Amino acid sequence: MCDISNNRKFATFVLLTRLVLAQNPNFQPQTIDYNPQNPNYNQNQNVDYNSQNFEPVDDNRFRPNEGFDRGPSGDVRALLQALDLQGSQECTRNVAAQWDFETNVNQATQLEALNAQQVYSQFQHGVWELLNKVSLRNVPNSSVARQIRYLSIVGPAALSPDQLDRYNRLINDMLAIYNSASICALKEPFRCGLRLQPDLTNIMAFSRNWDELQYTWTEWRRNTGQNIKDLFEQMIGLSNEAARLNNFTDTADYWSFPFESSTLSLDLEDAWEDVKPLYELLHAYVRRKLRDYYGPERLNRQAPLPAHILGNMWAQSWSNIFDISQPYPGQNFLDVTPEMLKQGYTPLDIFRLAEDFFVSLNMSAMPLDFWQGSVVEEPLDRVVLCQPSAWDFCNRRDFRIKMCTNINMKDLITAHHEMAHIHYFMLYKNQPKVFRDGANPAFHEAIGEAVGLSVGTPKHLQSLGLLQNSVADSSVDINFLYLMALDKVVFLPFAYVVDKWRYDVFNGNVGKEQYNCHWWRLSEQYMGIKPPVLRSEKDFDPGAKYHIPANIPYLR
Ligand SMILES: [Zn+2]
Repeated sequence: MCDISNNRKFATFVLLTRLVLAQNPNFQPQTIDYNPQNPNYNQNQNVDYNSQNFEPVDDNRFRPNEGFDRGPSGDVRALLQALDLQGSQECTRNVAAQWDFETNVNQATQLEALNAQQVYSQFQHGVWELLNKVSLRNVPNSSVARQIRYLSIVGPAALSPDQLDRYNRLINDMLAIYNSASICALKEPFRCGLRLQPDLTNIMAFSRNWDELQYTWTEWRRNTGQNIKDLFEQMIGLSNEAARLNNFTDTADYWSFPFESSTLSLDLEDAWEDVKPLYELLHAYVRRKLRDYYGPERLNRQAPLPAHILGNMWAQSWSNIFDISQPYPGQNFLDVTPEMLKQGYTPLDIFRLAEDFFVSLNMSAMPLDFWQGSVVEEPLDRVVLCQPSAWDFCNRRDFRIKMCTNINMKDLITAHHEMAHIHYFMLYKNQPKVFRDGANPAFHEAIGEAVGLSVGTPKHLQSLGLLQNSVADSSVDINFLYLMALDKVVFLPFAYVVDKWRYDVFNGNVGKEQYNCHWWRLSEQYMGIKPPVLRSEKDFDPGAKYHIPANIPYLR
């Protein structure tokens, strides 16, 4: 037993990360909101479908041993050029199949997407085998060496076909458990089938009933994490094996690689130390407000916060408890939604506005292909996976956004965020394919977030004619900033804990007999939260968060 729910004194102690949460019960959601054409580091986004129908595909397109004499440097360049061209074509085919699936969900498109993914994995495996034979001695310059190094990192595609199949099945099985989990309502044993989306998410956000929140929190974990633990442990072995085949010591080493820092863990700790003073103030303030609301008998003035009353299943954003904790009750804050509705905005208007924003920064307008190919409104005639995302089709001209846009301020900002990804795609489109990605995994999101923050300022909204009166009152400002902090600042220690925990698992510092205990140790240390009920190693609370069964990196 791991005694981790006692009221110990809260002793607390990055990267801009962006959370994407779409837990569609039937289909595996897109897990990052842009689709880089270079899937080397986002290795799992392309293999994480629920279906297990991996059809064998006869791939005759790529014969790695034909046509290249790998000796003098000129031949290395020729090899890279050929791989660039072929890699781009293979990538386009795969991305197109994923797009077709996500914008028209049915069995046929799903099968096509799975097939395309498998073909792409086989192609990557061929590249990996080929480049392992290339001697770096004759490489003409560092850019070429870097291309070879990056091209030779193919993630799980380096596994043998049998191992890769097992790896994919383990992840699919975990995600099937996660995506199909449901619970019954508190004290209503016959009202069952409550799913994460929208039922449990709404309960966690809007219920202020302590018992209902505690019950929902616990039941979700009983139906997900507990059933995922054994599969997860098996997957860790294969994930580490794939990392070793890519010349890394383990998956933690592999996931750190794109940050290109030999001191990543120290960098992260330093970044967190910078944010910590603000987080501690926020934490203390929220604890006081929750104590006022739920009563001192339920909340100790010095203990960590119970994880179930913070408005979110994972306590990763606390913005849903704004209503019971806001500094200036009754003072509204910036929301231009009513004005957007009054002015009759359409989804297309929102995207035209986003385009204008970038043009005003002296950047280009969106190309014609973008407007013809994108889906900016939920179609009525077919099922679409609505998670907003930006897509690069790997051919230097086809870039699209998929978004079921609603007319509100949140989606106005999201549209700008997604379009920032498109601009980044367009700006690096002339690089070799292997370099067409963010400078590191945090970069794409950081740019989108920076643009989003600029768009949401009162000054800009006034210039759009969406805000008539200037908001001079500081109480309105403080309410707004407080709400932002509940979302953005709170998310930082959470994201940090998720991957700090996984790095410790991948590199063997923490064995399965300590999985859950270590999770709560870190959650208390960094987030200052504790589970509402006693936990043990029978529980596997990390597995109740999507990115753990999906095996997708969280630091970005
Ligand atoms: Zn994004």
